[in-house]
Amino acid sequence: MVALPLPTLPGEISILQSLTLDLRWTWSHEGDALWSCVNEDLWERTHNPWVVLQSTPAERFKALARDKKFLDELASFVAVRERYLKTPGWFRSSEQASQLGGVAYFSMEFGLGAALPLYAGGLGILAGDFLKAASDLDVPIVGIGLLYQEGYFRQVLDASGGQQEFYPFNEPAAMPIEPVILPEGGWLRIPLEMPGRVVLLRVWQANVGRVKLYLLDSNDALNGPPDRGITAKLYGGGTETRLMQEIVLGIGGWRVVKALHPEIEVCHINEGHAAFAIIERARQQALKENIDFWDGLWATRAGNVFTTHTPVAAGFDRFPADLLRKYLPYVEGSIAGDSLTLADILALGRINPDDEEEQFNMAYLALRGSATCVGVSRLHGEFSRRIFQPLFPRWPTCEVPVGHITNGVHMPTWDSAEADRIWTEACGKERWRSDPGTEVENIAQVPDEELWAMRNKNRAHLVHLTRRHLATQLRERGRDAEAVHTADTALDPNILMIGFSRRFTEYKRTDILLRDLDRLGRLLLNENRPAQIVMSGKAHPADSVGKEMIRSWINVARQPKFRQRVVFLEDYDIDLAQHLVQGVDVWINTPRRPWEACGTSGMKILVNGGLNCSILDGWWDEAYRPDVGWAIGDARGGSVEDVDARDAESLYETLETRVIPEFYDCDVAGVPRAWLQRIRNSMSILTPAFAGSRMMKDYIEQAYLPRAQAVAERLKDKNAKAREMNKWSRDLHAGWSSLHIGRPTITRNEATWNVVVPVHLGEVAPSSVRVELFADARDELVPEIVLLHREHEIPGSINGFVYAGAVSTSRSIDDYTARIVPDHPDVVLPNELPLIAWQR
Ligand SMILES: *Cc1c(COP(=O)(O)O)cnc(C)c1O
Repeated sequence: MVALPLPTLPGEISILQSLTLDLRWTWSHEGDALWSCVNEDLWERTHNPWVVLQSTPAERFKALARDKKFLDELASFVAVRERYLKTPGWFRSSEQASQLGGVAYFSMEFGLGAALPLYAGGLGILAGDFLKAASDLDVPIVGIGLLYQEGYFRQVLDASGGQQEFYPFNEPAAMPIEPVILPEGGWLRIPLEMPGRVVLLRVWQANVGRVKLYLLDSNDALNGPPDRGITAKLYGGGTETRLMQEIVLGIGGWRVVKALHPEIEVCHINEGHAAFAIIERARQQALKENIDFWDGLWATRAGNVFTTHTPVAAGFDRFPADLLRKYLPYVEGSIAGDSLTLADILALGRINPDDEEEQFNMAYLALRGSATCVGVSRLHGEFSRRIFQPLFPRWPTCEVPVGHITNGVHMPTWDSAEADRIWTEACGKERWRSDPGTEVENIAQVPDEELWAMRNKNRAHLVHLTRRHLATQLRERGRDAEAVHTADTALDPNILMIGFSRRFTEYKRTDILLRDLDRLGRLLLNENRPAQIVMSGKAHPADSVGKEMIRSWINVARQPKFRQRVVFLEDYDIDLAQHLVQGVDVWINTPRRPWEACGTSGMKILVNGGLNCSILDGWWDEAYRPDVGWAIGDARGGSVEDVDARDAESLYETLETRVIPEFYDCDVAGVPRAWLQRIRNSMSILTPAFAGSRMMKDYIEQAYLPRAQAVAERLKDKNAKAREMNKWSRDLHAGWSSLHIGRPTITRNEATWNVVVPVHLGEVAPSSVRVELFADARDELVPEIVLLHREHEIPGSINGFVYAGAVSTSRSIDDYTARIVPDHPDVVLPNELPLIAWQR
């Protein structure tokens, strides 16, 4: 009905049709070979098997059906695929498998492959890698996203390096997706309330190996023209369109989960965009059990996980209150006892509920509605605790409940065929699919000669590809044959290849190497130890600074002396990224600290024997050690000008005095031993630590299993526990202002301070609180929390007690302050109730 008919394939090869719908070929080198064999030119151009089948002439299929070699390859590919899909993977075979019914992973973008262009950058690529890792490890996850009629823009550079943006139409019939058909027949359509109308959302399905990704779109003939465009463009349109998209993703998405996967108990929100799922989930729970909205939220919040990706508060998605009033009025009064008002919803997204000027912040809703919240690297976790501090008034920053799970990348997506071969020989085929990290030590045993041969092949391949890409670029820009010919001599397979690719934007400082062009010239054109740079990246259409950075690099690349040493490849996408990360020797990343929440491109080179030379920000801050790569800059801070100047100097100097000399320091056999030892360290130590399988395992252990267990508890007996918690929290809230901490008495006894504190609990039950001493981090000292014990009632008082405890005299008693915090065995604190009272 939706798809254009595919050509009728001869019986021997008819299986190709079902293979097109499995995105597993995006990370299978065998898949590459197979599709390339069907139609090399089309495969190279589109990397979309669906299009390859649609556009290959029938004679070619007839020939393939008689081609013994092809049939053998096909049979073996099919057998491998069957085995992959049928053999239970690591998680499903583990003891914990029965404790996790399922996870719905919501994301505004998914970057799985060139054939499904539903991503703009890092967030989408991460989400794609996440689903692939879930498939490999056999974790019960489904993805929830949007199907855009136009993905993110495609980049073309004009003759002067100006960026032009094109938005090709995503033809659903040419994408590896299928409509979700209901058991009783008919396409699954999700109704969604919008002002004065109901919009229907079509549901599509993409198969990522074992994992399903559901995609919603509003481009249904049954919708009015403006509504058909809601899902037209990724990050396109104004604030109102963005809000509608986020309502479609969060609310529509949760309805898909309810319709297709009732077993799912964990809702994972990848960045704040999908946070409305929290409200819809709680609302549906309340409707189902006929309880009030807040009981429903207390029940379901235990099953929600939020990953924040934003490094600065200004990066959060926000909406004016009036827009929410326009789009969400139907939730009001929809639930028992009129327990949900728009004012309540607005309060969930504000610091100050009553501030009419304050915009509604999606990240605040996400954090308040999730029992587990993590940032995407250790450093980002730390900065996120500062960013979210205002939601936890008077709580110490170190206790703001945002942890971190550092991102990882799906290694099989990013390894070269050559790297795959070496890893397979050393560590086996199952290396990223078994208990993460257990099968990869052997990579350290691979001999220098073999590693060096791989590096040389990978580099040569990138040079070859760059020349081809560059020639096409020049031809399409209308340059004459002679100019196009220069592409044949661009780069050199035998010299050090430096690379980077990323969004061109101010904080990434992509132009940092251009601060001193003479120095760059000496570095690249050195006669004995030359170097070359290949790069790629887009600037946001509205980012003039980013566009200017692209122009500067193009101007350098066009100078005759740099022509063979500097290449800018236009239209950065997942395909290009794969080639770059496979070929470069050294990857550079130069964000302004701490703006890089994590950064993942540097992780993609690890498996291929590339080395990182980057600012200590994001993942590199925790990954770096002197024997695996190079660190640029320092954490001293200062004015932007000072930091930029210091970092630039540090980068030049590191390249000149350490990176380049080591690369060319070869023994008589022509092998750079020290360089290879560094590669070996980087491959064996960092690759497993920053693999998607490690990330997935962390999410399972630190988020999914605890959340699944907690939400199951709260949903039992008509949500009895959740309702009890809700009441408990309300009582505590109401009584909190009646608490009061008296003056402590301190005595010294040998090596301890004995502390005795009178506490008046007012309206609050003693069992609902803990009294503690708190000392914050200072100099070398870490934060400390010491529980005080309730000793006895204060004579003559009502609900007044003496609490006592002891701390070591190794720390000044002035560091400690007494405080009261809520205490409940099952409530996640302080996430779910951020009350605190301090000794005055
Ligand atoms: C990996 C990747 C990114 C993200 O890279 P960062 O290092 O996180 O900036 C963006 N776009 C594409 C196409 C990628 O492959």
